[in-house]
Amino acid sequence: MSFESLGLRAELIRAVSEKGYSEPTKIQQQAIPPVLEGRDLMGGAQTGTGKTAGFTLPLLHRLMSSRKEGSDRRYIRALILTPTRELAAQVADSVETYGQYLPLTSSVVFGGVKINPQIQKLRKGVDVLVATPGRLLDHVNQKTVDLSRLEILVLDEADRMLDMGFIRDIRRVLALLPKQKQTLFFSATFSTDIKKLANELLHTPALIEVAQQNSTAERISQIVHPVDKTRKRELLSYLIGSNNWQQVLVFNRTKHGADRLAKQLSSDGISAAAIHGNKSQGARTRALADFKMGKVRVLVATDIAARGLDIDQLPHVVNFELPNVAEDYVHRIGRTGRAGNEGEAMSLVCIDEIKLLKDIERLIKREISSEIIPGYEPDASIKASPVKNNSRVDFNRPKQGRVKSKNKQHGKSGPAFQNKDGINRTRRKVA
Ligand code: AMP
Repeated sequence: MSFESLGLRAELIRAVSEKGYSEPTKIQQQAIPPVLEGRDLMGGAQTGTGKTAGFTLPLLHRLMSSRKEGSDRRYIRALILTPTRELAAQVADSVETYGQYLPLTSSVVFGGVKINPQIQKLRKGVDVLVATPGRLLDHVNQKTVDLSRLEILVLDEADRMLDMGFIRDIRRVLALLPKQKQTLFFSATFSTDIKKLANELLHTPALIEVAQQNSTAERISQIVHPVDKTRKRELLSYLIGSNNWQQVLVFNRTKHGADRLAKQLSSDGISAAAIHGNKSQGARTRALADFKMGKVRVLVATDIAARGLDIDQLPHVVNFELPNVAEDYVHRIGRTGRAGNEGEAMSLVCIDEIKLLKDIERLIKREISSEIIPGYEPDASIKASPVKNNSRVDFNRPKQGRVKSKNKQHGKSGPAFQNKDGINRTRRKVA
């Protein structure tokens, strides 16, 4: 199938072919026709599937079709809401790139930067606005945006917006929009809350799903390396060095931990930068640019900061710590293996994280292969103090008791540690 056969305007086809796309991805093939028809859409799609072009191309096409020639004043006709600044910036880049041969204008607003330059741009009039919910409401309060004539609304990564606590902001935005509009709703996972919101918003939507819900992309190989908590940093340096990895995205649960790890890696001689919500927008953009250009080898990120990062051909993602919310694992490893490339996701798992691992395996409906790296065998005498789990999968379950193990020896060929959940930490061949 080609972009031409989907019926997109010549200006859009020119832009995508200059970008080097030879054919539409699966989600683009499925999403573009119903959106062109004006239908609402419910899309189950992970990052890396090409979903941004999947909604942006038909959105721009429709704005052109319904455009009134000679209308002198511009107003916001399409709004794309995203959870994070980085994703907003990247979606805005896509809108600009795909729409470069069309007489439409776009702009982006997000927090963490000055509001006045955004106001000046908005005053000139924009057709497409990309926004994070909080900053959009700041503009609403200052009366610098008018959403009353909106034609198309896109909620991108809706699950993440809810996870980040934006539901009230989203509802406030929704109250400002006209009833009659086209709504496109994207989410990688479908909790009860997400389904409820989608039901309220969408009218007989086209349902499309790429990659099974909550599943992890097949082209990403996944592995767990059991290791003691105190030796994770050493193991990470060893893996990066011995495999000569040049571009690695590493996930940490906390901002403080991300900073500390980046510093420690740097002192091990591995250039690293941290990216998280406490950093200024400038620092985040710089760290990302340095990483993309290969100036730093490792980018240590928290879940929120990493959301929406689009780094072409990122080969390695490491979970230095497993996420508290199982769904975040799917998002994290979606950073690798993008747009058809092979990717490798590995998790350094200490005994405290066994329950988090179980929750992840339940969510993705498969067991992740496990391999102990020689020299980094877990010390079986260490007792677990389980990490508090916030997963929606089993939010209210009682806490797990402590685990005792009899096996104290390092480097045994038998189980290095076993726990109540029955996870057997024997050395296993990588699938
Ligand atoms: P997304 O899921 O929208 O974040 O897109 C993931 C990556 O796929 C981005 O780097 C896009 O530039 C790229 N991409 C999108 N559509 C195509 C296509 N049809 N062919 C090749 N790459 C694409």
